[in-house]
Amino acid sequence: MEFKKCMRCGCFFISENDVCCNCQSKDKMDISKLNSILEENNSFNSIQDLSIASGVNVSNLNRFISNNKISGLNIKL
Ligand SMILES: [Zn+2]
Repeated sequence: MEFKKCMRCGCFFISENDVCCNCQSKDKMDISKLNSILEENNSFNSIQDLSIASGVNVSNLNRFISNNKISGLNIKL
């Protein structure tokens, strides 16, 4: 175990995760919102478009995508 810097709020914490325990619930809310948006429409032209549609910022989106937290996303990069 080592100190990590939270990817959302920047505080230091000890955990296996990328975010502190305060931000884990925010991550969960963002991910469930994204997955419900993607059920309706899974083809976006860019991460920015998905960010605008969901209200989730681009750096969080990139983190969710690289951690495979959101499914069915079909972005042509
Ligand atoms: Zn945090």
